[in-house]
Amino acid sequence: MKLIDAHVHLSAAEYAGHTDELIADAKAAGVVALVTNSMDLRTCQSDLKLAEKYPDLVYPALGIHPWNVNVLKENELEQTIDLIQKQKSVVKAIGEIGLDCKYETAWEKQIMVFDKMLRLAEALALPAIIHSRGTIDKIAEMLPSYHLKGVLLHWFSHSIGTLHRAVDDGYFISEGPQATYAKDIREIIEKAPLTQFLTETDGPVIYRKPPYNGQLTKPSFIRNVVESVAEIKNMQVDDVAQQVAENFQVFFNIKLN
Ligand SMILES: [Zn+2]
Repeated sequence: MKLIDAHVHLSAAEYAGHTDELIADAKAAGVVALVTNSMDLRTCQSDLKLAEKYPDLVYPALGIHPWNVNVLKENELEQTIDLIQKQKSVVKAIGEIGLDCKYETAWEKQIMVFDKMLRLAEALALPAIIHSRGTIDKIAEMLPSYHLKGVLLHWFSHSIGTLHRAVDDGYFISEGPQATYAKDIREIIEKAPLTQFLTETDGPVIYRKPPYNGQLTKPSFIRNVVESVAEIKNMQVDDVAQQVAENFQVFFNIKLN
């Protein structure tokens, strides 16, 4: 079975010193691809190193996360864009980018950075991995202005009506460990077409409920996620995994071995 973690943050401080262990554990669990999403310039550089160290397994999605727009250093935005342009042959997506309603103080700056990231995705013909907490209306209003290769609304947690519109627009969604216990997420999975669906852990985000119980999130949790999706959709686990692996190849333009 080929498992995919389409959204994780391997360069997060919580994983420092443990990435080799995490990746070995993921491989042992059947994970064949991890898309490591950066948050700022430092994590862009670190994610590139990991991708170099683990070819055909770790793939970088680079960008500035909305949580970081308020703490960007002088020239960090320009330097990050410059780095991504220089590394365009290895970068597989622009991510994690987006808008977050909890950081309203930096709203105008969030929109400015998000716009720059979307322009970069357009210019480099890369898909975008988007964080949309509480901001899907503004994001939906902005996206049609760009010609994007693909849009992944990660950890999709909006209404079913919004889901249908996103799917009609050709966007992909991804869900993670909440698939095992969160009623709203399970309903989204039930209603989403599996052909536009990816699995993620969003590690190091911690999940408090069973079976995760607050332990440090690992990409190997993907097995649980796939099992939950199979249960919700009343399908075989293997069939879900196979479809997600196909979706991964289509969305990221990556050929799995
Ligand atoms: Zn994330």
